Amino acid sequence: MIHIKSDRDITLMKKAGNIVRDTLNLVGSLVKPGVSTKYLDKKAEEYILNCGAIPSFKGYYGFPATLCISINNEVIHGIPSDRIIKDGDIVSVDCGANICGFHADAARTFPCGNISEEASDLIKITEESFFQGFKYAKEGNRVGDISSAIQEYVESNGYSVVKAFTGHGIGRELHEAPEVPNFGKKGFGALLKKGMALAIEPMVNIGTEHIRVLDDNWTVVTQNGKLSAHYENTIIITLDGSEIITL
Ligand code: MG
Ligand code: MG
Repeated sequence: MIHIKSDRDITLMKKAGNIVRDTLNLVGSLVKPGVSTKYLDKKAEEYILNCGAIPSFKGYYGFPATLCISINNEVIHGIPSDRIIKDGDIVSVDCGANICGFHADAARTFPCGNISEEASDLIKITEESFFQGFKYAKEGNRVGDISSAIQEYVESNGYSVVKAFTGHGIGRELHEAPEVPNFGKKGFGALLKKGMALAIEPMVNIGTEHIRVLDDNWTVVTQNGKLSAHYENTIIITLDGSEIITL
């Protein structure tokens, strides 16, 4: 069942959205060679708690941290650790926060120091693919309109979309219906209605879409060992287009 948000719900979701946006901006400013992923996680957690919010991911199915931090060939769900970020790494940071019972969820891929041209193009196309999909996020369209626009843009630029994980509805739960895949067909999928809240999140690989999960049972990596990038925002469907609440 897809939950339609009331005006009050949306006001609260926007509060959560602002906190997630500001946390990601803070973390982005701290991504530098020599910093551990655990340090970034600690700073994010402190910031979210200081805002009177709760990190959405910590404890979710047992996830042990506030942020998912996924470096280079890691796609999503990387666990913060003593790992030190190096010059040339690309660092995907996924963050969720809950305030007054509502979640927002967003992700960015940050460059650390000087990254390769290939890495920088991957980050750019991943981010742009979100906005290609977002164009179709309006009342009367279907989820497949968003999905197919993302897929088409990514593939026409020579990359592949991860299919094993998807975007999602969001609200009182971190993950709600409907699923928002990064692949699909125009005109198919759930009908978009005013008041729906969605997390749209392209995960884009160099080479094939295939992934595997590491022995920690969380970290998703590319099967070919090549780079992957992630970009996500929470959006609210309105009558005339839509609103991004985590930007
Ligand atoms: Mg996320
Ligand atoms: Mg998400």
